Amino acid sequence: MNKCFAFIFTILMIPAAAAAQKLPEIATPHHYILMLAPDLNSETFTGDEVIHGDTLKPTNKIVLNALEIDFKEATIQALPAEKNGKPGDVQKITVSLDPQSEMATLQFPNEIPAGPFELKIKYKGILNGQLRGFYLSKGNGRKYAVSQMEPTDARRAFPSFDEPAYKAPFDISLIVDKGDTAISNGTIVSDTPGPGADKHTIKFSMTPKMSTYLVAMMVGDFKCISDQEEGIPIRVCSTPDKIQYTKLALGDAKDILRYYNQYYGIKYPFKKLDIIAFPDFSAGAMENTAAITYRETLLLVDDKNVSNNLRKTVADVLAHEMAHQWFGDLVTMQWWNDIWLNEGFATWMSPKPVKAAHPEWNVALDEVQQTGGAMNTDSAKSTRAIRTNATTTNEIAELFDGIAYDKTASVLRMVESYLGEQPFRSGVNNYLKAHAYANATAEDFWGAMSHASGKPVDKIMQSYVTQAGVPLVSVKSKCEGKKTDVTLDQQRFFYNKAALEAGSPELWQIPVCYSAAGGAKQCVLLDQKQKSFEVAGCGEGINFNTGGQGYYRVAYDPESLNKLTASVGKMSPQEKVSLLDNQWALARADRDSVGDFLALIEGMKNSRERAVLERIDDRLEYVHDNLLTEDDRPQFEAWVQRLFRPALTEFGRKSAPGDEAEKRTARARVIKALGFAGSDPDVIAKSRELVLAALNGKATLEPEQRTTLVDLTAKHGDSDLYDRYFQQARASRSPEEFYTWLYGLTAFEKPELVKRTLEYSMSTDIRNQDFEGFLSSTAEPVANHQIAWEFLKANWSRISPKLATYSPGTVIKTAQFFCEPALKTDVESFFTQHSIPGAERSLRQTLELIDNCGALKQQQQTNLAQWLQKQPTTSAGGTVEPKAR
Ligand SMILES: [Zn+2]
Repeated sequence: MNKCFAFIFTILMIPAAAAAQKLPEIATPHHYILMLAPDLNSETFTGDEVIHGDTLKPTNKIVLNALEIDFKEATIQALPAEKNGKPGDVQKITVSLDPQSEMATLQFPNEIPAGPFELKIKYKGILNGQLRGFYLSKGNGRKYAVSQMEPTDARRAFPSFDEPAYKAPFDISLIVDKGDTAISNGTIVSDTPGPGADKHTIKFSMTPKMSTYLVAMMVGDFKCISDQEEGIPIRVCSTPDKIQYTKLALGDAKDILRYYNQYYGIKYPFKKLDIIAFPDFSAGAMENTAAITYRETLLLVDDKNVSNNLRKTVADVLAHEMAHQWFGDLVTMQWWNDIWLNEGFATWMSPKPVKAAHPEWNVALDEVQQTGGAMNTDSAKSTRAIRTNATTTNEIAELFDGIAYDKTASVLRMVESYLGEQPFRSGVNNYLKAHAYANATAEDFWGAMSHASGKPVDKIMQSYVTQAGVPLVSVKSKCEGKKTDVTLDQQRFFYNKAALEAGSPELWQIPVCYSAAGGAKQCVLLDQKQKSFEVAGCGEGINFNTGGQGYYRVAYDPESLNKLTASVGKMSPQEKVSLLDNQWALARADRDSVGDFLALIEGMKNSRERAVLERIDDRLEYVHDNLLTEDDRPQFEAWVQRLFRPALTEFGRKSAPGDEAEKRTARARVIKALGFAGSDPDVIAKSRELVLAALNGKATLEPEQRTTLVDLTAKHGDSDLYDRYFQQARASRSPEEFYTWLYGLTAFEKPELVKRTLEYSMSTDIRNQDFEGFLSSTAEPVANHQIAWEFLKANWSRISPKLATYSPGTVIKTAQFFCEPALKTDVESFFTQHSIPGAERSLRQTLELIDNCGALKQQQQTNLAQWLQKQPTTSAGGTVEPKAR
């Protein structure tokens, strides 16, 4: 799946979240034959299923996963093990259901021997509104039947051995209404009229051996555009009203397929590739074998009016899902505790084809930002180890988080950088070849990597996968004649000052790569608590995280840090982003002061790289929103204006023809920083002017600036403007435009408008998949914290039935931006009284975030005020609106 944790999804609550266990080892499947007939009117479906399998011992029962399945009729027959043998009797089955364990026990009178059997089941299921299993989606004025099986919902569509290790081929047929079509994992092999006058039956080719969570079934009036690449037919499909937005994805899919065919050394392993978006979808996207499914916003874009951020996301998400076709679909993890390998690998892999097709996007900068984001989550006490055990449905669902995706990707990137691209790739190729159409564990993966590279990848990976947290590498260096004596020391890093001071027993195997300014990269494996060595040369600053590729933070001794920051101009943008993250983390743990951090930013004031500006703006908005007193605010805002106005003058307000995407995005970020962290009156006024012109149909907003202008204007907007946003969202055509205006509503800060937005979140206009995201976006501005929180408490009985059952902690994250100690106490007591099963970690993480923010404010507010008082008081320094337009 793609980053489901990053996208907010919602589904109707089922009573009492059920707990699943592993199936008993009685039988294994070796072939499924499925015929499903959805009835869109009654929102149900009927199923006719045949499972061929083997019993492992003589038995008179078989246990399958099944949930919300109404068994109508079931029989079993032992089949002869040899060619001329005699089959056993057909026996009627009695079914007992256990919704708690999500299993069905199929009991029959006479024991059958160990060996082959045929199981036949007729049943009825529900096209549910929970976005799980075979479910109902509504859009374009009609109903669709669509599927999402991962992680544990195939059991809602067909009784099955619904665990990843039980791989089998599937023969799927779908009975659909006249005029509708169907899409599944296989290609269409026949399409015949009936049964009945209003139906036709579409039969798909048999799939290769695959896990149940990868089954896909979509029924409705989908339209597709198609092409082919290296002999593989590719289609991109949508509901008919959005077919004009499929073009970009089709081009991307071709580029990506070509790249992967070459990289993996195994050609795309399936007969075709379909990519389908539909209106209700819980995750971002899903890698079903040869039938990737999507929420519309991440696939369907207006190619003439798309922001480059979204343009990049479309390519990246597709590259992620296509990476899974090999890594996940062809070779699958043995059990969910290794889901990180699936998701982390696809997340690590996806930038590669995107970089190859679009070098101008500087995707390498996004990778460093991703590492920073992962280390941020991982600096909390409440983080988890990459590999975490899980058996129940809730525990499995909770594993799809930033640790599985972004931390794993960052660790893999570090290992690749340490081994070199080619040895890493050989290891990947060997691993895929050894386990194709089968399952594998993490040990198989790092064993293959160690073997291919001759380096201790197993030890490095194991230390990162089984231990939670981020290492902090302390550097002490001393100039001795023509060399520098270096001592490195490791410990676990925490934002929490007391935890950091108390120390923690973890020990990592850290590939520390370093270079003197502009010099060649060298690496040392820090495999013990402390290590000393010599570096040739003296006097130059040494960067102990070359290229920002390491998954660790660095605490430099003051002299080493001074030398390093003096040479900041020679650093790559990756290294600047990485240094900013590093120093900000040290300030958050009270190892350093926020004043020194702002001075570091000032030292980078001439940087114009998009990612550096983004990182600086992120941190300045955090300081602005959380750490300032009312007295300090004008001083801080004046400083931000002085910092960014020269950049805006240089970039110009509007894009010039021929401006590259990176420049357009950088410009938009400068406007955002000035507007939000700098409260720059000129920028705010100009934004309003542009937004009004757009609302009046007199101008269009530049795609890169659209969200910033819409949100900034909303922040200062009144109820008339609110109404205009409302109308504009309804009139929008492309998903991107629609969501920009819709989410614009969440940026208004006048209390009566915030209340209106919160009330609106409860309406059917807000799809279930968007509900929690919309709510938490409304709660995000500091001005809205209290109102949103009061609303949530007062309306809990209306809110709780709308929550996403397979991402149980999402609603708690509504409170993650809070910084007020009183709110923390309240959040804790509320969610203790109204506990959400499976959301325990989300609650701990959210409470710790609020705590950390409060502690930071207490530790740093005084020295921040002192630093600001030393700054000039005027905001002079470059005009905001350059004269030439
Ligand atoms: Zn994925």
